Amino acid sequence: MQDCTSVIDGKAFAADLRRRVATHVARLKADHDITPGLAVVLVGADPASEVYVRNKGIQTREAGMTGFEHRLPDTTSQDDLMALIAQLNADAAVHGILVQLPLPAHLDAGAVINAIDPSKDVDGFHVLNVGLLATGQKSMVPCTPLGCLLMLRDRLGDLSGLNAVVVGRSNIVGKPMAQLLLGESCTVTIAHSRTRDLPAVCRSADILVAAVGRPRMIQGDWIKPGATVIDVGINRISDGDRTRLVGDVDFDTAARVAGAITPVPGGVGPMTIACLLANTVTACCRANGLPEPADLTASQRDA
Ligand code: NDP
Repeated sequence: MQDCTSVIDGKAFAADLRRRVATHVARLKADHDITPGLAVVLVGADPASEVYVRNKGIQTREAGMTGFEHRLPDTTSQDDLMALIAQLNADAAVHGILVQLPLPAHLDAGAVINAIDPSKDVDGFHVLNVGLLATGQKSMVPCTPLGCLLMLRDRLGDLSGLNAVVVGRSNIVGKPMAQLLLGESCTVTIAHSRTRDLPAVCRSADILVAAVGRPRMIQGDWIKPGATVIDVGINRISDGDRTRLVGDVDFDTAARVAGAITPVPGGVGPMTIACLLANTVTACCRANGLPEPADLTASQRDA
């Protein structure tokens, strides 16, 4: 077995995408006096969510966009949250709305997401955007799968005809990832916890996307030599007296077989926020009847 030829540097890729976002933002300001605005809503004080929201705010401002942060107590009622969404829907300075998930258990996340104006749904979770993506129409594409697709296109160019296996069928990663790969004319298999002989299914993949949430589940001998492996998983494991992050793929064994692989951390993770910023610029252009920046999104290819 030979060593993996390429580790896909998601950090560098995301930095490049953020630079392109910032260029578009500057152009929107200079040519049209428009500043894209992203509103992030955080309910409660989940520590991981706090970190995500803080990072989103920092990167939004660094890209030259306006960030609106709404931090609500975990006692917030459904009615109060819905009222805030209605207010953000009506605010012309807000082009993208993101509600940080998970919400506290007493809140109905589905109802909240579907109350967001679909044209401002930069997470792509509104049922209308889900349907548009599934039917191959222009939509808002969920950020994590979008980031994966941009990296795959960069690495492989035309994906048409390749065998793609997506392990995981969640609404936020697995299903939209599979839809995007189908849109690229891959032959797509979606695997999940009931899949029989998962190693054999994985071994058929030219493109293997792991979105499971199980540390290092996918081993090197599950991977077809030369395949491109995208590891979405973020798992915190204890390592002596520290904790560290690992993916769903056993990087050390997989890297000896794969043609290219994303590391964890530093692979898919950084792309997610960069794609959120890109989606906000896209939403802003659409809201103002301006051409969409074709280098920022996935959906333009099919539009
Ligand atoms: P979910 O828990 O919603 O879905 C996990 C999926 O994995 C399910 O479809 C489940 O199958 C499947 N699964 C579980 N166990 C197995 C198994 N033994 N064999 C095969 N399939 C299995 O997770 P998410 O999709 O939300 O997230 C997946 C991972 O990606 C997590 O580690 C998460 O932290 C990470 N993530 C990373 C992001 C990033 O920015 N990098 C963003 C979002 C998520 P079934 O449906 O049958 O139960």
